[in-house]
Amino acid sequence: MRMYDLIEKKRDGKVLSKEEIDFMIQKYTCGDIPDYQMSAMMMAIFFNGMNKEETLNLTLSMRDSGDVLDLSEINGVKVDKHSTGGVGDKTSICLTPLVASVGVKVAKMSGRGLGHTGGTIDKLESFNGFSVDIPTNRFIKQVNDIGVSIMGQTKDLAPADKKLYALRDVTATVDNMSLIASSIMSKKLASGADAIVLDVKCGSGAFMKDKKNALALAKEMVDIGNGAGKHTYAFITNMDEPLGNAVGNALEVKEAIETLKGNGPEDFTKLCMMLGARMTILAGICDNEDDAITLLEDAIKSGKALDKLAEFVENQGGDKQAVYNTDLLPKSKLQIDVLSPSEGYISKIDCSEVGVASLLLGGGRETKADIIDLSVGIIIDKKCGAKVCKGEKIATIYYNDEEKMKVAMKRLINAYHFSEVAPEKIETIIDRVF
Ligand code: URA
Repeated sequence: MRMYDLIEKKRDGKVLSKEEIDFMIQKYTCGDIPDYQMSAMMMAIFFNGMNKEETLNLTLSMRDSGDVLDLSEINGVKVDKHSTGGVGDKTSICLTPLVASVGVKVAKMSGRGLGHTGGTIDKLESFNGFSVDIPTNRFIKQVNDIGVSIMGQTKDLAPADKKLYALRDVTATVDNMSLIASSIMSKKLASGADAIVLDVKCGSGAFMKDKKNALALAKEMVDIGNGAGKHTYAFITNMDEPLGNAVGNALEVKEAIETLKGNGPEDFTKLCMMLGARMTILAGICDNEDDAITLLEDAIKSGKALDKLAEFVENQGGDKQAVYNTDLLPKSKLQIDVLSPSEGYISKIDCSEVGVASLLLGGGRETKADIIDLSVGIIIDKKCGAKVCKGEKIATIYYNDEEKMKVAMKRLINAYHFSEVAPEKIETIIDRVF
């Protein structure tokens, strides 16, 4: 087999076989196929697409390019959740202990943040001592003992995707549904869960800016998951404004804790309930959404869900007292009100600008080596649809450095858009694919 022939075949709009895809991925991963040939292939796929079978075969080949986690020693159905990424997305911190408290087994691999969206691991490190650097056997034992564990992505998880994603990033070939879906799902499938709930974000702060594209991506990913034998269910959810009110590591952890106490923002609470209910159903604990939501609400009311977070934090070396006393989380030295520059309805809050504002405060990394300030961030006091007067407080910036605050303040004010008439309300859950 020659890579030249495969490029030519895809360039001419033909279908690649499983053997051809396996050859291409294996040889590229070990370095036998050079980047220039793979770039040509990515561009051919970009223009001519891949059918459902090719996309599944590409995903499975990338999954098998490295370690595939064996979770068979964990009793029960292991359910994973994946978000395509958004601003203020602290869902895993609230959702994983919530569903674990009603019996769902959650063995999750998470990543760190890069750019304007934060990562779950960074956020969890707001608990002093917390670590995701745990060996697989301890990870498995913890899920069997307490129902939940989160570990960092292993170095050898879908290495073909790591190489390909870096190549796509510099050859303008990221934006293709089959390539995005196979990239995300190869890592999910390598993480070993039995069932997967996907949160496909849609809006200004997401990869997919509109519903049509978000639905198409969700469908590709659901087809891949089901094709690989994992029950997969996707929600399309709103990312036209930050999720909840908090953006920034410790601030988001605090909001997740408040949500587990029943005091969370409406949109974030709704998202956790819907994703959680589906995870509970996929785990076989409930057979309908209403019962599942009641079960999760009871876990919040009784304090079981909050106690599960404390148990999870303690098991991974973190200070569980901070779950019950959030004053123990990292706190910035200073805070300042952000005042509305206009009068009217808030029609849009540009998520990426809010994410960048938090990053500029020191709450995110521009390069992998950057050290982040867990204490800084933003609380959005007024969200889309709110009517405000000029000079009214719309947000609060938490900061440690005056110069950084000034730059972030400008970006944050620019993120807000106003209109004279009330904007149409966008539902948190826009659609579903299953
Ligand atoms: N995230 C991924 O992991 N891969 C893509 O291709 C796009 C987003």
